[in-house]
Amino acid sequence: MAQLPAENSTLARAVRRAAEQGRLSHAIVLSGDGDLLGAARFIAASHVCEEESKPCLRCRHCRKVLEGIHPDVTVIRDTEHRELTVDAVRALRQDVYIRPNEAARKVYIIADSHQLNERDQNVLLKIVEEGPPYAAFVFCTDSPSALLETVRSRCVLLKYDAVSEDALPPEAEQLCRAFARGKVLPVTAYLVALENRRMKREELRDVLRSAWCAAAEALLLQMGKQTPDPACGETAQALARGLTARQLRQLTALLEKYSGHVLGALAVEWEELL
Ligand SMILES: [Zn+2]
Repeated sequence: MAQLPAENSTLARAVRRAAEQGRLSHAIVLSGDGDLLGAARFIAASHVCEEESKPCLRCRHCRKVLEGIHPDVTVIRDTEHRELTVDAVRALRQDVYIRPNEAARKVYIIADSHQLNERDQNVLLKIVEEGPPYAAFVFCTDSPSALLETVRSRCVLLKYDAVSEDALPPEAEQLCRAFARGKVLPVTAYLVALENRRMKREELRDVLRSAWCAAAEALLLQMGKQTPDPACGETAQALARGLTARQLRQLTALLEKYSGHVLGALAVEWEELL
């Protein structure tokens, strides 16, 4: 199974936002020190997922992408870490014009794309620019500067740094701190404050999803997990201290249910739960 980026990572949030608005680029250069292949699969799943919240990570397309068996998602890599072969690029050039098998799109993940020589980069650039509309490309590289400027300028550049970039959005942290007090008032007060900010639906979904991550982590901590997730550890510890296991379980269910929904309804159910 692929190691996916954390839901609260900058990358996962950016990809979800773009995918849900139908503006996820068909050509992405992915760099950084995180698990690029895992992150690329997350992006590929966002392209082929059929659910509204992309990637849902549950539908048949998402599951196949994560297991590495989706017929319309191809990973191109040279396991011996030498120059990617001409054959691989030639095969891609033919394959790309065969319509997708199961999904609406076809996704090519090019691992270590800095190993592509100039000629092959130009071949791929032409496909990116003139290929069929269903084709999408994720160029993974730890040095984007090794790619031709013409390639980079045609792609959206995304960075995936595994540790440093993963942090809870401040709103999610504050919301969790309010939940951790185990009382009705701090939560309703903060939800009202959030409501007044008139955040966009997807931003709100982001906050609730991140809060869900922290609550789930808190449950694990209560169950004896030793090292807290660096992204949300402190907040999760506060939740683990403030709430009982039963309350935490119900809170995670609640946050999952209300991702992107009405805050007021969440407040009411929180009150009933205590
Ligand atoms: Zn899906």
